[in-house]
Amino acid sequence: MLDKPQLKSMLDTPVAERMPREIAPGVFWIGDCLAQRHKGKSYHGYNAAYLVAGTEASILVETGHPKDFPVIERHMNELFGRGVAPLKYLFVTHQETPHCGGLGRILKNFPDALLVGDVSDYHLAFPQYEHRMRSMNEGDEIELGGRSLMAVEPVIRDLRTTWWGFDTKERVLFPGDGFAYSHYHEDGHCGLIAEEAVSLDLPDVSSTFADLALFWTKFADMNVYCDRLDHLIARLDVKIIGPTHGLPITDVKATVPKVQAGLKAAALMPESGTNEKVAVAS
Ligand SMILES: [Zn+2]
Ligand SMILES: [Zn+2]
Repeated sequence: MLDKPQLKSMLDTPVAERMPREIAPGVFWIGDCLAQRHKGKSYHGYNAAYLVAGTEASILVETGHPKDFPVIERHMNELFGRGVAPLKYLFVTHQETPHCGGLGRILKNFPDALLVGDVSDYHLAFPQYEHRMRSMNEGDEIELGGRSLMAVEPVIRDLRTTWWGFDTKERVLFPGDGFAYSHYHEDGHCGLIAEEAVSLDLPDVSSTFADLALFWTKFADMNVYCDRLDHLIARLDVKIIGPTHGLPITDVKATVPKVQAGLKAAALMPESGTNEKVAVAS
């Protein structure tokens, strides 16, 4: 993991000033939260994006929710203004709105950028950008200068077309929906990494998210998937995790088991459905 002094604590920084946040040298967490109500509680979730900057080029991982595009664009331009290498690539983990909802606007506003990853169907929505789409397979790498972004096995995924991303220099894993959990705005969790949000019950919020968003986990043996996840983390020597919906994880050894506990707990509960149930009058 990072040396502690390298990752400055954000606990004393006002929420509005926490982003963009450099979670590892040259890896910037950008975007905004989305508030949702479920069972009378207000949950905040991220639809985050990450900018990974090499010496020659930067790659944007995910685009954020469509509503977040102005924030994402402002954060990126702030970073480019600071001298971060220009945007040459966009990698999205899969074809779902909170992950790729800004894709058309990124390709329009950054005419030199190529779309990389699994590019199925995007040409149907954006035929004008089809010549800028490049398909990746597992192990393929995009060279950024001094580091690369690799497509890796998506152990816990939403769609079959998913790829996870991996920064080879700081060993940051971008698992899309793989580590998905909400946080509490009231507790000041916004813009914090998972280890700073000490009052966040990770097994609980992870199991809630799995219940609402990862339907298939109800019908699978999640022990097998969690073992496979441990195997991937060990094989790649992952140091940091940058999830799309959760808070970034900088202590993999301590925090990953808490998320896995949530996935395993959710798998044993019947699905609650995404709508509040109303009793039918007899
Ligand atoms: Zn998602
Ligand atoms: Zn928040």
